[in-house]
Amino acid sequence: MPSRSERHLNAVKVGQDCAALGARVKTIHHITGLQPREVQRLFFTDPQAIPRGRPPNSLEWYHAANLIARAESSIFISIYRRLRRTGFGAAETLISAYRGYQAVCQCPHRISFDRAFDLASHTDGIWLARTAIFDVLGCQACGSEFLTAIGSLAPANAECPFCKLISRYETDPRLQASFPPRHLPICGEAAEVHPLRATARPATAG
Ligand SMILES: [Zn+2]
Repeated sequence: MPSRSERHLNAVKVGQDCAALGARVKTIHHITGLQPREVQRLFFTDPQAIPRGRPPNSLEWYHAANLIARAESSIFISIYRRLRRTGFGAAETLISAYRGYQAVCQCPHRISFDRAFDLASHTDGIWLARTAIFDVLGCQACGSEFLTAIGSLAPANAECPFCKLISRYETDPRLQASFPPRHLPICGEAAEVHPLRATARPATAG
């Protein structure tokens, strides 16, 4: 079992990573257990640099969010869920999944680190949430994983943001700019892979 000082050092390391990704003081406090005053002293030496404004509340936000934000939320949570299943701790998973999301999606990123924290909290029933209100479903039509409210009565793929993106993609320059085709080498050859397939489940899964 790690000693108290080792736990504190680990909390500081995690807090540093969160701050570098744009987390606000309260988010770092929830994730690491460090007191807000200590978080501020350690990571926000410039008071002007402290992120301000209302913290995200994803309960209502997700359903009113535009298509790109819902797709990006689903991409983040899909990466988060997969890493979490491999046994990583929640804090490490959040940080790695957020970096993974930033690598997959184009700037500007619609999902802030605080938003990602809020989504993960309400999907796992941890940190901010006592119970889960979001679930991750696999779309039967396009094979992607997407975020949805637990107990949603709509048919599974009716809420899939990727099905909607795919159907609008050819005629919507905004979507094309947000999710440009990527060239990924497969077996030594360049193959064009659509970024919306990034969340598709492996053929062997489920
Ligand atoms: Zn779909």
